[in-house]
Amino acid sequence: MPRVHILIAAVILLWARTSCTYSETRAPLAIPLSADKLIALTFDDGPRPYVLFGTKGDHPAPGLLDTLENNGVKGTFFVVGWRLTPGTWGERRHEQNVGVTCIDAAQQMVKRGHELEDHTFTHIELRGAERTKGEQWVVGDVERAAQAIKAVTGTQPRYVRPPDWSISDDARLDLERHGYRVLTISASNSIALRDVNSLDYLCTRGNSTQCPKPSLAGAVLKQVQQREAKGIYTHIMVFHELSTTTAIMPELIGSLKARGYRFVTLTEYMRLVTSKPASTREVARSTGPAVLGGSR
Ligand SMILES: [Zn+2]
Repeated sequence: MPRVHILIAAVILLWARTSCTYSETRAPLAIPLSADKLIALTFDDGPRPYVLFGTKGDHPAPGLLDTLENNGVKGTFFVVGWRLTPGTWGERRHEQNVGVTCIDAAQQMVKRGHELEDHTFTHIELRGAERTKGEQWVVGDVERAAQAIKAVTGTQPRYVRPPDWSISDDARLDLERHGYRVLTISASNSIALRDVNSLDYLCTRGNSTQCPKPSLAGAVLKQVQQREAKGIYTHIMVFHELSTTTAIMPELIGSLKARGYRFVTLTEYMRLVTSKPASTREVARSTGPAVLGGSR
């Protein structure tokens, strides 16, 4: 091709990309699918059968499991070990008994393709627990939950999310020596492997004054956009087993799919995100449409 034609082609290409970027900024729905845009949806604090299966009666609510299934999403549930003891269906004062025990719920979750990981046995704040009971107790609490999970699912959990992300470096290293990977919001982890706090626990029924405005789903999408502006297109999102969280899932999942995201379990996420060298990821992203010339 003569040089002048190459030059014209390059100008057209540049114009196409610039105009594309412009339209994407204004209309996110135009972003095409990319295999590199991943989300691992995670839910803490269960199993809570009344959330997972929904409720009827005065306060009818759809179940989280059906909601995820209807949207084609497999999630990862960081469960609390004490719930996986026989005959347990939740906290009597706050949780409606829908006739399903937590163990039955956990078995259903696995059957439906979701993953169960470790959110400790007691759900106690681990830094404080370490001060009063020692590091071995902390490791033991995580191991005890892992055993309870394995007894129900047959699978050894590999990921631990400490309640409130609170854990000492010593205890974290100890858990890593025991084969666990500890999830964190700490800046010491690369941003793609750092939990995204949805703040959904501020949006419970009857106590939502602190809930992000104008909506939780909108606030989560804003966090995604802010991460995209830093060149990050993979996100581990932290939610809780709450009926208010279930309610926003269809809208949120729909919006994220429209931005080109694919939903994977945490195991799949880690396999895909940690298996690629950074340079490969950068190349993949630099050719992707979501690399905007915007703020950092
Ligand atoms: Zn928790």
